[in-house]
Amino acid sequence: MDYEAVIGLETHVQLKTRSKMWCGCANVFGAPPNTHVCPVCLGLPGVLPVANDEALRLTVLTGLLLHARIEPFAKFDRKNYFYPDMPKNYQITQYDRPSTTGGHVEFEFEGGIRRVRLTRAHLEEDVGKSFHFDRHSGVDFNRAGVPLLEIVSEPELASAAMAYAYLNALKDILVHGGISDCDMEKGMVRCDVNVSVRPRGAPTLGAKIEIKNMNSFSGVRKALDYEIARQTDALRRGRTLQQSTRRWDDAAGITEEMRTKEDAHDYRYFPDPDLMPFAPDETWLAEVRRRSVELPLERKQRFMRDYQLPACDAQAFVADVPLGDYFEAVARSSRHPKAVANWIINNLRAQMAETGVGLHELKFTPAAIPELVELVERGRINSKTAQDVFVEMFATGAAPEAIVARRGLAQVSDAGALEAFCDQVIAAHPKSAADFRAGKAAALNFLKGQVMKLSRGKANPALAGEILERKLRQHP
Ligand code: ADP
Ligand code: ZN
Ligand code: MG
Repeated sequence: MDYEAVIGLETHVQLKTRSKMWCGCANVFGAPPNTHVCPVCLGLPGVLPVANDEALRLTVLTGLLLHARIEPFAKFDRKNYFYPDMPKNYQITQYDRPSTTGGHVEFEFEGGIRRVRLTRAHLEEDVGKSFHFDRHSGVDFNRAGVPLLEIVSEPELASAAMAYAYLNALKDILVHGGISDCDMEKGMVRCDVNVSVRPRGAPTLGAKIEIKNMNSFSGVRKALDYEIARQTDALRRGRTLQQSTRRWDDAAGITEEMRTKEDAHDYRYFPDPDLMPFAPDETWLAEVRRRSVELPLERKQRFMRDYQLPACDAQAFVADVPLGDYFEAVARSSRHPKAVANWIINNLRAQMAETGVGLHELKFTPAAIPELVELVERGRINSKTAQDVFVEMFATGAAPEAIVARRGLAQVSDAGALEAFCDQVIAAHPKSAADFRAGKAAALNFLKGQVMKLSRGKANPALAGEILERKLRQHP
């Protein structure tokens, strides 16, 4: 029998706010333990939480970027459980009335575009961090109360590779939208992985196995590969699988059972009496809508379509948004956007990296690169010369045509002048000429190089090549 995997992901993302979710403590990573804590995030008696407005805005902005429904009414519940890293003994979370429902993520996978639907995205708070030493343990509450958004997917992912692609696409959207820095090293994105296996095409889902608290996408992929094989193997042997929670042991490369459904928590959810429900008004929503951005995939597709760029060039302008914006501003006036993109991605980036000059400090005008492209297209200079012109225009801000005129760099396409160069070269290199006539095609390139050298780089290379070849064949 043939089996298929079904995967759904619950992705937790730390929001990029300056302060924590319910208090004014800084939301920063890496500070000495317990230096960003206060009575609110330590859960001391008698304190009152105040919702962080920016976290609410980022939650709704995420909903917009993920094509979700923005709910007119959301509320916060208390999820009760006892754990040392959670000082209040409950976590505040949107439970049955989350801020956003539905939506989807689109991403490139196996040569096509896939769409995975989302169930919901709800706002909650992070917990502290436990540390275990030789003879004692400690807890750092700096992370306690950091705003955390949980994005829940429908069970629509079909393989480890697809889950990996989904996670990367989701991360790109969140980073692009300024929702989160998504720095994995700093634990800003963590994932609960749900996976089941069933006979291919079966009408119902198999028993859900949840792998908790994964902190790297490559870990998710490895854990899924392992778990799908394990479950498939068990089913093949005729065993039935139980809904359960497992843990990924990265060093050993295996998952281990932690608990089954029978010992699942009862969280005793109830509405937090200290917090007002969240019902954003139209003005507030409009302000958030203004912060919406074009999605990375849409941007890539638009660059490919509108400027006929290859996928890798378009991707370069998605990865570096200011560079892509600069490209758009200058390419609009050019008949050769593809060539303009080449200059920006290769030459401009290299010069900027070498000199430390930023896009706002460029000395040449926005018209300069299209002008340079035009000079090459018209045959006024060859592409080798254009490289030198670019370096000078980057350094001084002079216009390409002015540089060409002043330094006398115009390409030599005049047949008479080229013939003279070719005659001179053939006379100076009788051995290579003889080699070519004897059938060594490579000798022509050498001779062509000599013509370029003689012309100080200005010969029209294509024409020079033609003339050379004709002359070599004419005079055996
Ligand atoms: P819970 O309430 O226990 O968190 P949910 O039904 O809300 O469980 O689902 C949590 C996540 O697990 C979602 O991402 C969902 O898509 C996924 N999921 C649910 N059932 C299955 C299943 N049988 N196999 C794989 N994933 C599943
Ligand atoms: Zn605090
Ligand atoms: Mg769950």
